[in-house]
Amino acid sequence: MQFDVIVLGAGAAGMMCAATAGQRGRRVLLLDHADKLAEKIRISGGGRCNFTNLQARHDCYVSDNPNFCRSALAQYTPRDFIALVERYGIAYHEKKLGQLFCDDSSQQIIDMLDSECRAAKVDRRMGVAVQQVGRNGESFVVHTSLGVFEAGSLVVATGGLSIPQIGATPLGYQIAEQFGLPLTPLSPALVPLTFHLDDAERFAPLAGVSLDVEVRSGKVRFRENVLFTHKGLSGPAILQISSYWQPGQEIVIDLLPDIDAEAWLEERAGSEQLLANAMGELAWPKRFAEAWLAAQGANVRGKDLAPKKRRQLAEALHNWRVLPNGTQGYKKAEVTRGGVSTRALSSKTMMANDVPGLFFIGEVVDITGWLGGYNFQWAWSSGFVAGKNC
Ligand code: FAD
Repeated sequence: MQFDVIVLGAGAAGMMCAATAGQRGRRVLLLDHADKLAEKIRISGGGRCNFTNLQARHDCYVSDNPNFCRSALAQYTPRDFIALVERYGIAYHEKKLGQLFCDDSSQQIIDMLDSECRAAKVDRRMGVAVQQVGRNGESFVVHTSLGVFEAGSLVVATGGLSIPQIGATPLGYQIAEQFGLPLTPLSPALVPLTFHLDDAERFAPLAGVSLDVEVRSGKVRFRENVLFTHKGLSGPAILQISSYWQPGQEIVIDLLPDIDAEAWLEERAGSEQLLANAMGELAWPKRFAEAWLAAQGANVRGKDLAPKKRRQLAEALHNWRVLPNGTQGYKKAEVTRGGVSTRALSSKTMMANDVPGLFFIGEVVDITGWLGGYNFQWAWSSGFVAGKNC
């Protein structure tokens, strides 16, 4: 069967692209191997889909070339997506830091995109196995379990590798390689980090403790909560820094970002009170204070802390160095860092520079957003841009 455009992947980017292209009058086929539409939208944002971020800018994205996403983000902005959400009467709220969530359910976003595709007469087929992609002259030929489809434009929107249990596959990367497009290295991102065994044992009793901290890796820093888990560290601050972390690197945690730790310790220099108890006034859970101070050999009374040890402890409070031994992998990662190299794509259209008619959009591209709605905004923006040009 002949179409103008075949979109592989009925997720966030694929549905946006298909609807946009269909609205231009293009005959669009949208294919997905999953039985259900956009499962990642459904599970996103704790079931309420953090669908965009008011502050989405190119420097909130990790990539070999973060400037690449400027054009798409300018062509389709968070305001454009909000206007669509409002047109469908979907109630939403800002949770924090510009993060917009549905009041009710992420299913509303899926239904909205589905309606847009229907209005644009997109031919959507679910549960289709894509067997092979090839060329017939200028056209792309897609062999599937439903037969052979042909189109002048092929848009690859098959996402990344995270959460394989709901259908993530490497198909998009394989198609890129087949057509000679380079990939940047892939790794799980927005993912909890794991401790080495001795730290894991030492901090195991702290599972569930959450603290407001500043986490740094190189020049990047995030002020958010860190959560101790049975295996290591999680929480928004850690998920954010994980997108920058490389194996073998330390992360540095400022446990008291609003306080001069040395001055605070000096005020307790003559005190009979155990430091672990005094730290209650800093809103530290007692079990955390006890375990952390014990690990520093400093679970003592204020008056027993010698000046040298006080300086060391203050330094450790502001620069607690943690050497993770890995991440919890794609099963727990929200996204995949790396992907189809932006060097091989046009930032204005998302088309491959050397393969006319072949487009890559969404997470399969080497653009990884921060936690907080940035990844969906990239999916909408890149999907829209490709939809206008395919
Ligand atoms: P996807 O949405 O993953 O869509 C890819 C589609 O391709 C899927 O439908 C898949 O079935 C299909 N596909 C894959 N392989 C094949 C194949 N071989 N054949 C045919 N079809 C195939 N981002 C945010 O901005 N805000 C959030 O609140 C948020 N929460 C998240 C929560 C979780 C638990 C996870 C895992 C991710 C979250 N993300 C969030 C990230 C966001 O979901 C992704 O960045 C986004 O879905 C990427 O869009 P995409 O269209 O590129 O890929």
